[in-house]
Amino acid sequence: MHELSIALSMIEQIEDEAEKHGGRIVEVVYVRIGELSGVDSQALRFAYQMASEGTSLASSRLEIEPVQLLVFCPQCNSTYKTDPQHIFCSQCLTPEQEILEGRELEVRALELAA
Ligand SMILES: [Zn+2]
Repeated sequence: MHELSIALSMIEQIEDEAEKHGGRIVEVVYVRIGELSGVDSQALRFAYQMASEGTSLASSRLEIEPVQLLVFCPQCNSTYKTDPQHIFCSQCLTPEQEILEGRELEVRALELAA
């Protein structure tokens, strides 16, 4: 399962970060997942729960923020949100958009216990 390896490396990264803050307990993990990242948020939530069991993150929860696809069309010089099924420009129909957002898979912030 692809999400499990993502969850494992995420946990590693979060534990490192918590360590830097004096090993405080992590309560909430804020994650951004782009529509084009290929990651299923339900599957990731499940994998995270499984993978964090027995670690210092066992009691933490994931807050997942979906990131809509944001593209830039160099032809029209415009930036707009779209969905992965309509990646070509609605104005000039060029498929050569630059993807600005929508591929991310990142831990954006942690909420640590006081
Ligand atoms: Zn265009």
